[in-house]
Amino acid sequence: MVNYDLHTHTTFSDGAHTVDINVKFAEAMGLEAVAITDHFTPGMRLWEEEGLFEVYLGEIFRASEWAEVPVLKGVEATLLGIKGEVSIDEEVFHRLDVVLADLGGHTEGVTKEPPKSRGKLFANLTRCLVNAASNSLFHILTHPFNLGRIPEPIEPAQIPRNDLREIAAAMRENGKIFEITNCTFWWFPQMPVRRFTEQYIEIVQIFAEEKVSFSMGSDDHRTGVGNLGWSRLVLGKAEVPPEQTVDPRVFLGES
Ligand SMILES: [Zn+2]
Repeated sequence: MVNYDLHTHTTFSDGAHTVDINVKFAEAMGLEAVAITDHFTPGMRLWEEEGLFEVYLGEIFRASEWAEVPVLKGVEATLLGIKGEVSIDEEVFHRLDVVLADLGGHTEGVTKEPPKSRGKLFANLTRCLVNAASNSLFHILTHPFNLGRIPEPIEPAQIPRNDLREIAAAMRENGKIFEITNCTFWWFPQMPVRRFTEQYIEIVQIFAEEKVSFSMGSDDHRTGVGNLGWSRLVLGKAEVPPEQTVDPRVFLGES
């Protein structure tokens, strides 16, 4: 089983610790690789503050010089609407090793101002993710289907299976990766964790059958770097073959 964490936050966005502390945690946890992936999203520091992105890249580069664990330069971008646009441009993308994208507070028509009709919402969700699949400005869809904190929450079991298959096919064709994010349950405060987990495993099985690749990330904000117990449990119970999880080395040497 692979052992890496491709999703961590630092004080460059809403994490509690520095880049160096995250990297040391990764080493202490015996990880094979760690990515620093602070938010690159409207309203967040990296996106708003002139020159901060340079400082960020510099700090990650310095850590990668002393670290024994490979350290990837990343960001977590966000999807902006149903056309599948993301919150970074080519120039930013090419300076990074790995880019995550999520459904978040800026995803117009899905998690931002979702339509009242369920049918319309599912149609928008599918359009957003199918279009995003062919957007070359990110690699990994993070905490996919995190729809439990919108005004009328959607549980994983409620998403039409045909829509999931369509999204999975688009992701496979374009090499987009499905992140099993350790704290995905956080988006579903109204669901017991066990029920949520059972439903989520079914989604992961569909994506695995459609031959989509997977990655793991803690989405750490408080040095839970390497805390991937739930991610491993889901990958195991969904019986994802080890070769269907990405090798983090594919991201090194790309930038
Ligand atoms: Zn995150």
